[in-house]
Amino acid sequence: MQVQTENQRLIEKDKEHLWHSMSRFNPNGNPTIAVKGEGSWFSDMDGNRYLDGVSGLWCLNLGHGRKEIAQAAYEQMLNLSYFPLTLSHVPAIELSSKLSQLLKGSYTTYFSNSGSEANEVAFKIARQYHVQNGNPGKYKFISRYRAYHGSTLGALSATAQANRKDKYGPSASGFLHVPPPYSYRNTFEDDLAAAEYIKEVINWEGADTVAGVILEPMISGGGVLIPSKEYLTRVAEICKEHDVLLIVDEVVSGFGRTGEMFGFMHSEGVQPDIVTMAKGLTSGYMPLGATAVQSYIYEKFKETGDKQHFRHVSTFGGHPAACAVALKNIEIIENEKIVERVSELGSSILGELRNLENLDCVGEVRGIGFLYGIELVANKETKEPAAEALSGKIIAACKEQGLIIGRNGDTIPGYQNVLILAPPLSSTVEDLRFLVDTVSAVIKEHDQK
Ligand code: PMP
Repeated sequence: MQVQTENQRLIEKDKEHLWHSMSRFNPNGNPTIAVKGEGSWFSDMDGNRYLDGVSGLWCLNLGHGRKEIAQAAYEQMLNLSYFPLTLSHVPAIELSSKLSQLLKGSYTTYFSNSGSEANEVAFKIARQYHVQNGNPGKYKFISRYRAYHGSTLGALSATAQANRKDKYGPSASGFLHVPPPYSYRNTFEDDLAAAEYIKEVINWEGADTVAGVILEPMISGGGVLIPSKEYLTRVAEICKEHDVLLIVDEVVSGFGRTGEMFGFMHSEGVQPDIVTMAKGLTSGYMPLGATAVQSYIYEKFKETGDKQHFRHVSTFGGHPAACAVALKNIEIIENEKIVERVSELGSSILGELRNLENLDCVGEVRGIGFLYGIELVANKETKEPAAEALSGKIIAACKEQGLIIGRNGDTIPGYQNVLILAPPLSSTVEDLRFLVDTVSAVIKEHDQK
């Protein structure tokens, strides 16, 4: 009785005072208030247990409750609770050098607090780099439709999902969009044609006006679009040929999600000029964003002297505890061979999920590593997208069965029809079995309804 009253009190306070980011799990009813996490599972205050099939917001890569990570934060907070990166501290030094090693190049990293900020920093660095390189007219950025690059106004300008932007315009100027490769809907003859289209836009705009191309190696929130490996290789070549910086957004795809340490590593010969990271960098245990730039870019900032340094500061960016957590997180990913595990298990899970393509309501199942999209259609022949209500019903029915799944963001009105699965990378084989069985049974149940 007392517990019920306490729960009710929390629900009322939540409804009155807490402004949620969207309302993914339960749009109209009571909020899902989590009180405990264990591995890939969490429990709400009524004692219901759920497998988190989307790793929170694609970030809880090592699952809940890693004592070593908590210990790393605890010790760092006791030892040096805060320190700004206008000066320096040991965890940030160690982490920046570790990231350079993981990226297999020579990179220098600027730390912030989130994925959005990491992209903002990338845009500012890219623009200033061209200024300091004697090309002040190079200020435009090209990104792809369906992409999500963050919620702040610069990152939102690079984001190209109509419904996320329409109340916050006008966008910052200088952000252009091109269609992504999307073989299921045949936007282009093939994925290489999508890369060539970027070249055309650079030429039409004038290469002397374009600062960078920003893209996720695999579009995640925009509907899980996995291009052929050659696409990114060709985009990288085009960027190089036009002195346009290639900015790879690894906020979701970084740290093992796709079965490589970074998503760009699936494509041969790609060494991005700038890589942005967040989410899996700390497995969600602390907020941290990172913008790693190839050292030749950083050198341009050094050689012009103090007056021309990067005029950007972040009070909490690169917080010592967040950097200590990231270092421990990476150590675990390496020691437990998480990336190899995702690569091996990922393809067999995808194989199982592909059986769903036999159903009338499933147009395509696609994925890589531990990232899967199930595209729902109303008509298999015409590929007419399924009504938004269908994905909503399936998500709600999965939740009833103890499984949390997601769907793509508001890309184009009428196209909220891709179910998304992105379980923690450390999920047990039993967890993954539950995920595949539950989602398959629920979709079958809703076929032709
Ligand atoms: N880039 C991508 C690809 C993302 O998916 C997200 C967040 N979903 C961001 C950037 C922004 O990250 P954050 O929410 O930490 O600002």
